[in-house]
Amino acid sequence: VVRIEHLNKTFTDTPVLRDVNLNVWNGEIVVVLGPSGSGKSTMLRCINLLETPTAGHILIDDEEITGASKTNVNELRKNLGMVFQGFNLFPHMTALENVMVGQVKVLKKSKEEARVEAMKQLEAVGMADRADFKPPQLSGGQQQRVAIARAVAMHPKVLLFDEPTSALDPELVRDVLAVMRDLALNGDMTMIVVTHEMGFARDVADRVVFMEGGVVVEQGLPDEVFDHPQQERTKEFLGSIR
Ligand code: ATP
Ligand code: MG
Repeated sequence: VVRIEHLNKTFTDTPVLRDVNLNVWNGEIVVVLGPSGSGKSTMLRCINLLETPTAGHILIDDEEITGASKTNVNELRKNLGMVFQGFNLFPHMTALENVMVGQVKVLKKSKEEARVEAMKQLEAVGMADRADFKPPQLSGGQQQRVAIARAVAMHPKVLLFDEPTSALDPELVRDVLAVMRDLALNGDMTMIVVTHEMGFARDVADRVVFMEGGVVVEQGLPDEVFDHPQQERTKEFLGSIR
């Protein structure tokens, strides 16, 4: 369970998150929508301890992660996997090595164990046959699938996705979404996904959260939010992207 309580983040006098409250239950898939600049990435970055909240608390399974000491941060990060818009693979390592490295360095697994897990996860994202390729030899969609395999191989409590398909050519988006859909539907993974892919949100999300101006404006079941938005701002946003 991820609990976000009264989360505030201000960058030099500019409030970016304003009293955000959100609980994400174990196994739940939450899709976060909202216009550019609404604070979606900042919220994920706070959860992932890449940003320090100005005020408020974030708890993962009742463990407070905000205000953790430096040494604790690495320990807490084990609970969190993140897939970004850009492909953050190590360019000089093969796909397999990319999926192994965190397991060995952070989880202290043996290379053999890490390799077995890595191959399993590369298999799951349809990239086993590219295990020995380096990122520059892979398409954006393939790189992103390796990035997902790498995150999943760490078996985090929560997987965070920040617009994982928005830098991809349209024909590659489908493959990545299929992998995410698989993860969401066939696992017990808890996922918070920032995306503009409405089809994905409608099919896969247990809940949709609409943010604007650093606040959660509205949330609910995908069909409720998409078909019967209650707030004017949600209506406008949905109208603008359809
Ligand atoms: P997008 O859909 O474009 O990715 P977003 O909802 O993810 O938008 P954020 O990246 O969270 O939005 O940014 C929210 C606001 O915070 C923006 O106005 C942005 O300029 C500001 N911001 C983000 N990071 C910083 C920073 N490090 N310093 C100053 N301002 C920042
Ligand atoms: Mg963003």
